[in-house]
Amino acid sequence: MDTTDIATQKEKIQKVWKKRPLIIAGPCSAETEEQVMTTALGLQKLGKVDVMRAGIWKPRTRPGSFEGIGTKGLPWLQAAKKATGLLTTVEVATPKQVEDALTFEVDILWIGARTTVNPFSVQDIADALRGVDVPVLIKNPLNPDLELWVGAVERIDHAGIKDIGLIHRGFASYGNTEYRNAPMWHLAIEMKRRYPEMLFINDPSHISGRRDILLSVAQRAIDLDYDGLIVETHCTPDKAWSDAKQQITPEQFGKMLDEIVWRKEYKANIDHQTLEKYRQQINQLDDEMLQILSQRMKVSENIGIYKKENGITILQPTRWNEILEKAIEDGKKFGLSEEFIEKYFNAVHMESIAHQNKVMND
Ligand code: PEP
Ligand code: MN
Repeated sequence: MDTTDIATQKEKIQKVWKKRPLIIAGPCSAETEEQVMTTALGLQKLGKVDVMRAGIWKPRTRPGSFEGIGTKGLPWLQAAKKATGLLTTVEVATPKQVEDALTFEVDILWIGARTTVNPFSVQDIADALRGVDVPVLIKNPLNPDLELWVGAVERIDHAGIKDIGLIHRGFASYGNTEYRNAPMWHLAIEMKRRYPEMLFINDPSHISGRRDILLSVAQRAIDLDYDGLIVETHCTPDKAWSDAKQQITPEQFGKMLDEIVWRKEYKANIDHQTLEKYRQQINQLDDEMLQILSQRMKVSENIGIYKKENGITILQPTRWNEILEKAIEDGKKFGLSEEFIEKYFNAVHMESIAHQNKVMND
């Protein structure tokens, strides 16, 4: 590109960066030249997509699965950009990947969840970005540790990157069945509170891990005032080389965008808006507490079965006193009154006994 083209492209990037909602879509991985181009054309046709994503280097949990097509896929993305006018974004995890992505004029870089967890890697990327003018999106770390996410933002910020955005892709949690990565909305909300001016994007694909709940996750994000979405889309999702279960076609994505209720920005006075945000935060937390309580009761039922098989009584006063005393001690550290902890734990205990009673005597 000559200097005028570069300037025009930079202006375009700035415009997209400020657009709301900002929509990013594209395959989990670039697989073939044809797959990249077909998907890009399908997305362009929707007229609603701003940026095309495609993984070039794939950080996979286990070796042996498809680890990305590598640098040879970058010209495919460049060709797709030329044909469609969409901006492009890829995940980078090493300085060499940063260099290659920039050589092939990738417009926006993103740091993946498996990289955000590692300050050494983030620092290497930050060092490679010094003096470079490119927007960077930072995914939340795999584990629910907000400080790691903040740390990554600080490292990239200290490297002089002006345009930093956040992607909420959910958190790995053991034994979670509903989501591939638990959204833990309260953590995302807290991050939004710390960086109110920063572009904040939701990734319903990696939260859901499946197609049937993509829309409801995306709607929830939009209701929480996210600035945009990044959704995995593939011309033939069932044949995708990675993350097949969660990908949808560009057409299905178009339908999904039509179904989302794009709530209008709250126009009332500022105070009201703040109150509304706190209320949403409360609703999310209550929702999660109920889910956790329900999990706790399921464990109680298993204990009930065990006790029944071994002829043990439901009530174990010593054990119960231990639980209560520990909770009162812990509660103090968290600023919760002894009175509240007693009431709360007694209520939970009674409900637990009721569940055990049911499995014992049914
Ligand atoms: C991806 O976007 O395909 C990806 C690997 O995501 P994450 O880093 O969120 O797991
Ligand atoms: Mn993926």
